[in-house]
Amino acid sequence: MKLQDFHAWSINDREGFWREQATLIHWHKPFERVLDDTRPPFARWFVGGETNLCYNAIDRHLPARADQPALIWESTETGQARTCSFRELHREVMRMAAIMQSLGVRRGDRVVIYMPMIPEAVFAMYACARIGAVHSVVFGGFAAHSLASRIEDAAPRLVVSADGGSRGGKVVPYKAALDEAIARSAHKPAHVLLVDRGLAPLPRVPGRDVDYATLREGLLDAEVPVTWLESNSPAYTLYTSGTTGRPKGVQRDVGGYAVALAASMKYIYCGKAGETFFSGSDIGWVVGHSYVVYAPLLAGMATLLHEGTPVHPHAGILWELVERHRVSLMFSAPTAIRILRKHDHALLRRHDTSSLRTLFLAGEPLDEPTARWITEGLGVPVIDNYWQTETGWPILSVAHGVEPTPTRLGSPGMPMYGYDVRLLDIETGREVGPGEKGVVTIRPPLPPGCLQTLWGDDARFVSTYFGNFPDQLVYSTFDWGIRDADGYTFILGRTDDVINVAGHRLGTREIEEALIGHPAVAECSVVGVADALKGQVAVAFVVLRDASLALRADARQALEQALLATVDRGLGAVARPARIVPVPALPKTRSGKILRRTIQALCEGRDPGDLSTIEDPAVLEAIRGALAPADKAVQA
Ligand code: AMP
Repeated sequence: MKLQDFHAWSINDREGFWREQATLIHWHKPFERVLDDTRPPFARWFVGGETNLCYNAIDRHLPARADQPALIWESTETGQARTCSFRELHREVMRMAAIMQSLGVRRGDRVVIYMPMIPEAVFAMYACARIGAVHSVVFGGFAAHSLASRIEDAAPRLVVSADGGSRGGKVVPYKAALDEAIARSAHKPAHVLLVDRGLAPLPRVPGRDVDYATLREGLLDAEVPVTWLESNSPAYTLYTSGTTGRPKGVQRDVGGYAVALAASMKYIYCGKAGETFFSGSDIGWVVGHSYVVYAPLLAGMATLLHEGTPVHPHAGILWELVERHRVSLMFSAPTAIRILRKHDHALLRRHDTSSLRTLFLAGEPLDEPTARWITEGLGVPVIDNYWQTETGWPILSVAHGVEPTPTRLGSPGMPMYGYDVRLLDIETGREVGPGEKGVVTIRPPLPPGCLQTLWGDDARFVSTYFGNFPDQLVYSTFDWGIRDADGYTFILGRTDDVINVAGHRLGTREIEEALIGHPAVAECSVVGVADALKGQVAVAFVVLRDASLALRADARQALEQALLATVDRGLGAVARPARIVPVPALPKTRSGKILRRTIQALCEGRDPGDLSTIEDPAVLEAIRGALAPADKAVQA
């Protein structure tokens, strides 16, 4: 079938289309209705059907492939490796599930998982899925403040964590940040389950903290039956940044998500049972959830879990892993490839990557030079995917499992089946024509796999995503897009203040709040500035309470270090601004709104445009002056 016809079928006959896709997974009890969208924009998929993500990803494969690899773990940081067959993974997940049950975790309870890339993190996610607990994985790079706000919102009964991880050869301790986060949070989990890797200090709070290895020893033969869940039960929440400082708990269901992932493995990724899928994402991000943990196993593939960076211990390590594990499909981010591009092709050619069929890239715009470089280097198709934490699987791409379609450099591709994508004029809400810029929107109902709501806040879900165009209930991605005459869509950047650093979504507001927490800062504004390697970096403009500090080089340097440390402690190094620029004042409109886009334009050396609303134009000159001496540092 042609991709366009396939897409048209999915939109014009949603029920027929998704009824057929639902056969890709096992249903313990058949659903009564494919779709209930009587309360738009809420969509309930496969209503009344009962299934389980863990069963579909693990148990279902036991008769045919119990001894085939399911989870292949490599830490290129510590030199450890472990492969679990489907049978072994099944066992470990039941042990973990039994531990959780012994700690009082029941169906519907939340479990926060704050862990490095180790097998136990995957066991914990699947254990939750098995018993109907709702996991909420928090990226290990987030620090106490970010973790505390997530613990408070999710109100978990249990937190699963470890002593530490390792990144680029350096130990990253987890426990101190976790203890600080729990101290800050109004909600206190009943227990903290700890995996001790022997990497970092692991102080224990008596009564609350329990040891994974000890509990596991007592439950080696535990049998934990699957809890069958109605399709619309929450499977997990995953927090993501928005324009406010309060993160949003994206909530996903069980049945719709399982069907969407299974369908994406068939049509978009073309994965075959018995093969190996390697996605480099951390499990704390949505790609980690969908394409490290769940989708490969749903398709009967092995998944490669990698603790490490693309350049440690050497810049050919990813290709070494591809060779060693005969990886068929790989999923990475443009930033990783840009980092590797700084090294030469010889590193790539040193390894036999002939097992690789396709490389998928996602999370940020894929620039043409990077796409060309890696396509030539690998000699296999490189496919861009555009999607979001909220959608769980690609909105725009090409679907070679439906019809081989040429890709177009700079465009992630076409709307995927199930997504009724419209580009709308931001002012009038009318659809724009080919070649015209508009906001990328999706007409509800959102397809299976997309967020059901925001955790505990239906009203915020509706107002945030569906309240942006008068008289129209459409989902806004908050991205600008443009479509060419052949239907290829190009993504031009965000319409809001969210920035994308190395594929990680950060809210500038959160970084501002962290900086404002420092007593020396009176006011600040954080903007995303184009960067050759990371796509964007955060640059912070701070107005100091004592402006004289900025005049003395030593005091200024010490202050900058202190401010960076404040962000590290609060949010994590991932959010650290590339530069702190002290300024006498921030440019504002007469009504007091900070002109972020003007600051951003100055940082990127662009024309700041219409300045008629600015209260004091002299402020811009001061910013220009402050930027001038180190202009190059921002671009470096
Ligand atoms: P996240 O939810 O953190 O994955 O961030 C989603 C955002 O990343 C999107 O709204 C886009 O701004 C950006 N993004 C993701 N994938 C792509 C892509 N393939 N091309 C351009 N931008 C992308």
